[in-house]
Amino acid sequence: MSRQYPTMDAEDLGESGDEECRCVMKLEVLEKDDNKLRFTLEGSSNNFLNTIRRVSVSEVPVMAIEEVAFTKNSSVLYNEIIAHRLGLVPLRTDLKTYKLPNECKCGGKGCNACSLKLSLNAKGPKVVTAGELKSKDPKVVPAIEGLPITKLNENQEIKFNATANLGVGKDHSKFVPCLFVFNNYPELKVIGKGAKKCIDVCPKRILEMKGDKVIITNPSKCDLCKACVEACPNDLELRNIDGKYIGYIESWGHLEPKEILLESVKVLNKKLKEFVKALK
Ligand code: SF4
Ligand SMILES: [Zn+2]
Repeated sequence: MSRQYPTMDAEDLGESGDEECRCVMKLEVLEKDDNKLRFTLEGSSNNFLNTIRRVSVSEVPVMAIEEVAFTKNSSVLYNEIIAHRLGLVPLRTDLKTYKLPNECKCGGKGCNACSLKLSLNAKGPKVVTAGELKSKDPKVVPAIEGLPITKLNENQEIKFNATANLGVGKDHSKFVPCLFVFNNYPELKVIGKGAKKCIDVCPKRILEMKGDKVIITNPSKCDLCKACVEACPNDLELRNIDGKYIGYIESWGHLEPKEILLESVKVLNKKLKEFVKALK
């Protein structure tokens, strides 16, 4: 699937997508599911993609538990350890309903628009998992139900109320929505006759003979480890294609990868508008 990337964003941002896009940036999705997205981006730059990456990781808001009030805890773990674990449970995030506390009308005191109550009440013997958290909002629930919180033995009990809110990764790592990496798109050039012997050293098994040439069968899997050129320095040359990149996003479950990308563009747009306003 190949598409004009800025046009997709403009439509999804609710802006006019009617204007013909004169850009040459092309995004091709190589593989995707609910949590992973691998893509190639052409006609871009390191700076552009790195900006999107940094905003995605550190400034796209997601939900996480911020406060826990225990009424019972006879497990072997201290309240603080359990509260820390709860903070790291990824919660499915509804950005249409919730606001960041510092942008909410309540001034960050906590209201239905910026915070959500959850609770848990469990008795042993059992392993208590994130799936047992009861949320007041069915849209905001643990993304990974099987995450263990603590183990309870016979007659042990845990009971607490928790408050979750939106936050951003630059303030705390529990609000980081994803892993996002990218690298240059590789191109292999055969410059000598002994390149055939390099095929077996590739850890990704993506080198093959085609006629008398060595080719990369799946360049998107190449991680630029350079094992092939180190094995055959006089026969192979590995170079980056200018302006072409392979990106990979793995979401922790709060938002889908495409939502993270679109949200990062919104955050960036907002910053640019603020910048223009400040200049005037
Ligand atoms: S750089 Fe590494 S992964 Fe890429 S083709 Fe060479 S050996 Fe394989
Ligand atoms: Zn509020």
